[in-house]
Amino acid sequence: MTDIACPRCGETEELLGERTDDAITVTCESCGTVWDRDLSPRCDTCGSTDVRPAYQAIVEKSRGTQLSMQSVRLVHLCPICDAERLAEYQVSNRPLAPDELPTASGEHPRGT
Ligand SMILES: [Zn+2]
Ligand SMILES: [Zn+2]
Repeated sequence: MTDIACPRCGETEELLGERTDDAITVTCESCGTVWDRDLSPRCDTCGSTDVRPAYQAIVEKSRGTQLSMQSVRLVHLCPICDAERLAEYQVSNRPLAPDELPTASGEHPRGT
């Protein structure tokens, strides 16, 4: 429980730890990055521990926040299960799009 540093900007002081069910979520108050302090990240799908870190944009759910910076969350992508997203991430070099948007679950045929 020592030497926690922001994986994005290296901040070690302005960090906010918050305990959740079985992990600790850390927020960097310097750059807005959020990550789970999970010592052994693994793929939820296949259980592989050979996962790659990636940043995912966080959707602002409420207005009125004074943070103008873009918050991102550190996630881990499986080179097998998340191959497409991982490739896309590596090419674009930008945070992944949030996955909370209800898309890709069914197309609505456009009426005439
Ligand atoms: Zn930071
Ligand atoms: Zn996997």
